Amino acid sequence: MLLRILLPALLIFFACHSAHKQATQNAAVVFAERPKNIILLIGDGMAVPQISAGIYWKGPGKSVWEQFPIVGFHKSHSADEKVTDSAAGATAFSCGQKTVNGAIGVLPPDNRPCRTILEELDAQGWATGMVVTCSATHATPACFIAHQDIRAFTEAIAEDYLNTPFDCFVGGGSGYFDDRPDKKNLLDTLKNRGYVIRKGDSFNRIPLDGSAPFMLFTAEREPGTASAGRRYLPGATQKICEYLKKRSNKGFFLMVEGSQIDWALHANDRNWLKAEMLDFDATVTAALNFARTDGNTLVIVTGDHECGGASLNAGDGKKNFRPGFAARMHSASMVPVFAFGPKSESFSGIYDNTAIYAKMWAALGNTVNPSK
Ligand code: MG
Ligand code: ZN
Repeated sequence: MLLRILLPALLIFFACHSAHKQATQNAAVVFAERPKNIILLIGDGMAVPQISAGIYWKGPGKSVWEQFPIVGFHKSHSADEKVTDSAAGATAFSCGQKTVNGAIGVLPPDNRPCRTILEELDAQGWATGMVVTCSATHATPACFIAHQDIRAFTEAIAEDYLNTPFDCFVGGGSGYFDDRPDKKNLLDTLKNRGYVIRKGDSFNRIPLDGSAPFMLFTAEREPGTASAGRRYLPGATQKICEYLKKRSNKGFFLMVEGSQIDWALHANDRNWLKAEMLDFDATVTAALNFARTDGNTLVIVTGDHECGGASLNAGDGKKNFRPGFAARMHSASMVPVFAFGPKSESFSGIYDNTAIYAKMWAALGNTVNPSK
């Protein structure tokens, strides 16, 4: 008798409870018509095989990838070769133009500098920042702020950071700024301009209240690997989103790179790849959580190219999978693009890597490419 009364009551209670939860989740995802903020996350060397492995490693249904409503593909080839490098790949995102492999923010045939989306938005009053797990002078971050014919010109790339009043940088490479063959100390120059400069991966004494621009150097050259315990990328991404939001009422542009996914693939190192993919999953989760509560943020996640010719082969009979590698170099396969937030729907379909730049500008309501 008691059950007969209690059971329907319990069922109604649980039904209401879950409906409320659903409603709350939906209520949080009310997007503005256009984004104010753009977070572009790049997994270097990351395409379908790497993401598939990441999903299985995390557990199906648990990975961040399955939370994106919009998926598209980009064609990653560079101006003159089907297989791109990270410099041409990142210049396509930053400038919207195909360039030659090795070129940092410059275009063929005469290596003319192209204005990047970070530079242009910074000039228009947006807050800008980058968080990476490589050095500041490495190809991917360099292509958003530097203009050099060859990616190996690391000292010149570091000097190019002085040309844009960016708001923050977290990553490695302090030595390219203060331990240089030409004896210039670029960090002193930045300090004189009001930047807070810190070394290490602690955010103690970093002006997260938005009171000053800063650079936090996590290594003198390249940061350590995720498999050896490097952990700062997800936490830094979350903190920097909140920091940049305080830096400008117009909005912000943040580039986040899981830089070492590519390095694990060049090394054909499965354990390193797993650690980097799980680290990047947590990083994308941090960006997505910010965007969910913010409502004004467009999140785009992609890779610049595939690396390793990776495949998920049968392991333990067919019970499990074992990543295999056909190469130690990049490949030409298409790369998925995940999007969330206002105007995310424009990222479905198949398009050139350069279209990501145009789609970001269009999302902001700017249909004219300002670099033209
Ligand atoms: Mg890179
Ligand atoms: Zn590579």
